[in-house]
Amino acid sequence: MRADKAPLMKRLATALDQRRKASLYRSRRVVSSPQLPEMEVDGRRLLAFCSNDYLGLANHPEVVRALQQGATDNGVGSGAAHLITGHTRSHHALEEELAAFTRRPRALLFSTGYMANLGVVTALLGRGDRLFADRLNHASLLDAGLLSRAKMMRYRHADLDSLRSRLQLDGGGRALIATDGVFSMDGDLAPLPSLADLAASHDAWLMVDDAHGLGVLGREGGGSLSHYGLGEEQVPILMGTLSKGFGTHGAFVAGSEALIETLIQHARSYIYTTAPPAALAEATRVSLRIARQESWRRERLKQLVERFRRSAGELGLPLTDSQTPIQPILAGSARQALDWSRRLETQGILVSAIRPPTVPEGSARLRITFSANHSDRHLQRLLDALSGLSKGA
Ligand SMILES: *Cc1c(COP(=O)(O)O)cnc(C)c1O
Repeated sequence: MRADKAPLMKRLATALDQRRKASLYRSRRVVSSPQLPEMEVDGRRLLAFCSNDYLGLANHPEVVRALQQGATDNGVGSGAAHLITGHTRSHHALEEELAAFTRRPRALLFSTGYMANLGVVTALLGRGDRLFADRLNHASLLDAGLLSRAKMMRYRHADLDSLRSRLQLDGGGRALIATDGVFSMDGDLAPLPSLADLAASHDAWLMVDDAHGLGVLGREGGGSLSHYGLGEEQVPILMGTLSKGFGTHGAFVAGSEALIETLIQHARSYIYTTAPPAALAEATRVSLRIARQESWRRERLKQLVERFRRSAGELGLPLTDSQTPIQPILAGSARQALDWSRRLETQGILVSAIRPPTVPEGSARLRITFSANHSDRHLQRLLDALSGLSKGA
């Protein structure tokens, strides 16, 4: 029987309705200001604690100027994929600077972190291979695993025994262990030195997605690897995004000559997409330089996190043990998280409620993120509003 359009749309509407009733409905807000602590959102001025612009570079005047100059020199569109005529000297220079920054022979730009993860995993693994993934890895690593057709072995979060027991199961082919460096919804660090040991003893590659570590942790913002003092030998595949700590857009993978050449040949999310604008690469070259040089931005973040944790702890708020600028406050149910978020918003403070399936069932939360641009007064306003929550006011 031919499917009728009306019943199909009605089914979608019913499913959306159920989602709303379960407090899981998501909607967008319209922002009409740059990424700054004080933003204009849906026509209201709100103090925001949900951006990943950790170092406060998304709206930095020098970065903005580099983008403008880049557009003047190169136009806007890059016109073609990297393998056709889209790969400009701006992209090339940025790749060399990212390679130097990560102390690896090569780096390769991708349009987004999502695409970088899809590209790496599908280029390296296929049917008959195995992907070992932390259960709390970013959704893009999960999707990458599914797309690769490799056998997916998800281990308990940061649990080495759980990973070890999966590595010991029989299985041929290639083996890749993939983990976030800093977990995006929890803010904790992966146990990278132990993961590197396990990878070495089981003949597996280790890949770290350091979207939330780069720029923020380690000397010159070298990320979670730099925090632990690990190099290419322990972690041969490093993926980083440019849209968080570095405040611009896009992503990269850094590693050996052979790794990068393999990605250029086989990563479909690299090959079959238009190169990002050259002007964007110029803007990122400037933000990378500022991120490396201006360590006061990292110091400021550390200070905000320490002060927040001390005061929030005194208020009795359910903190996790994250030491990074990602500070979740566990609510449990999606309804509770949403209710807290709405109450903060009535006080002019924007903190997003993170609900399943982004986080596991029963672990909905407020996800507070700090930026080097937050002032002490901003922090105090957040704490005042949160103290209202803990009193159930
Ligand atoms: C944000 C994020 C990505 C995706 O990066 P985009 O450039 O936003 O597509 C990948 N991995 C992690 C851990 C992230 O937090």
